[in-house]
Amino acid sequence: MTHDDDLDELAQWVRDAQHVVALTGAGISTESGIPDFRGPQGVWTKNPAAEKTATLEYYMSDPEIRRKAWQNRLNSEMWSAEPNAAHRALVDLERKQRLHALVTQNVDGLHHAAGQNPAIVVEIHGNVREAKCMTCGWRGPMAGTLDRVRAGEEDPACTECGGILKSATISFGENLVPDDLHRSQLAAARADVFLAIGTSLAVYPAAGLPEIALRNGARLVVMNAEETPFDPVASAVVREQLGTVLPALAERV
Ligand SMILES: [Zn+2]
Repeated sequence: MTHDDDLDELAQWVRDAQHVVALTGAGISTESGIPDFRGPQGVWTKNPAAEKTATLEYYMSDPEIRRKAWQNRLNSEMWSAEPNAAHRALVDLERKQRLHALVTQNVDGLHHAAGQNPAIVVEIHGNVREAKCMTCGWRGPMAGTLDRVRAGEEDPACTECGGILKSATISFGENLVPDDLHRSQLAAARADVFLAIGTSLAVYPAAGLPEIALRNGARLVVMNAEETPFDPVASAVVREQLGTVLPALAERV
């Protein structure tokens, strides 16, 4: 799908829809310099040892893994990343009242940074802006905890209860927040246009959302550089660069 005619048709669907829902994955943030962790060139694909820092079992049982994880957080490219044209295009769509819910698999907070209304965003894999205690549930800004790491605490403990702290992301082996999952599924069920943006649609439960949308009669639009399992059932498949095609779509809506 590369012709203007096709983009016009897609814009028409979005204009005519009652409830537009977007699901975003790593592909929308690569243009902001944030690596894709799971993709073919992903950080974890190329370095499986790094994946341990994001696996709950290892994180909880091994202080050395936690020390590594805190160093990774300290040096993360996420702190300096800026939203790109694709993030901004989704804000445009919302301002035109053509985007009603945005579920993201990303933890980078770039939708918030771009100015998306937090009320319509569900960060289904959590976020890196906060730290959380794995014992008492305390949550606080990540910046404060990183200051402690910088000051020499290699594996800072919860100041409330002494428990293990972690970023407020969903690690491998960790349950999703039930309320976030529920909100995502409700949004998908209400969608009449479902935009799957920069996601391989390979990881559940995110991959279950387009299924729900399709079952309820939505048009599915897949916008991803690589093939996804949903391409054959999509109303349209877009392979173009998201930073180009999303602004072009938002402009036409
Ligand atoms: Zn605690």
